[in-house]
Amino acid sequence: MEEEVEPEPHATINRLVNRIRVSKDRATILLVLYDWDEKKFNGEFLLSDEYASIASRFVRPPSFTSSTRTCSRCNAFTLSKNLGCGHHLCGQCFAGLIESPILEGGLVMMCPNYDCGKFLSLHLLRDHLSSEAREKYDISLKMSYQAIFPETVWNRAVCFVRSSATSLATSLLDIGVQGFKAALRARRDEICMVAIMAIVHLLE
Ligand SMILES: [Zn+2]
Ligand SMILES: [Zn+2]
Repeated sequence: MEEEVEPEPHATINRLVNRIRVSKDRATILLVLYDWDEKKFNGEFLLSDEYASIASRFVRPPSFTSSTRTCSRCNAFTLSKNLGCGHHLCGQCFAGLIESPILEGGLVMMCPNYDCGKFLSLHLLRDHLSSEAREKYDISLKMSYQAIFPETVWNRAVCFVRSSATSLATSLLDIGVQGFKAALRARRDEICMVAIMAIVHLLE
């Protein structure tokens, strides 16, 4: 029986959560900011001015309640979401400044108001996104990790394929491998999946 391995990037996020005792939201933002370099968050760094300045950008307590307020961007006095940093966004500005960039593949983590720089509560943000945007956000987070660690995904795919490979198939496999690596480098998830399927098909 193979042991169930937690998929990345969640394994890395949870390791940081458990090690430095921060929320999952904070661990996620820290890892994205520092290119998934979990070793960066050692005792010395956590006591540094740099970390203190980042820590001051997390909002406590996170909010995201809605009430009739003046939108911080368009000044409309209407039902607006409290981003927790002192800024409020009406439905239209929320859609345009947060939801749309996420649908386009952006990892929105900060209040979109000029000069704010405060981080959004990611788990509360999720509740206010469409299911399409939520899905897109998860993919973008995964791709941000894979851009730094393409080999992790790669190694797992190779182990999976090689476990059923014959020696003849192995040489065919190596041809498929080149295409797969190129797809990974270009961050094309769908091409990777096609490459894996092609390799598996060759081995059958
Ligand atoms: Zn507005
Ligand atoms: Zn703000």
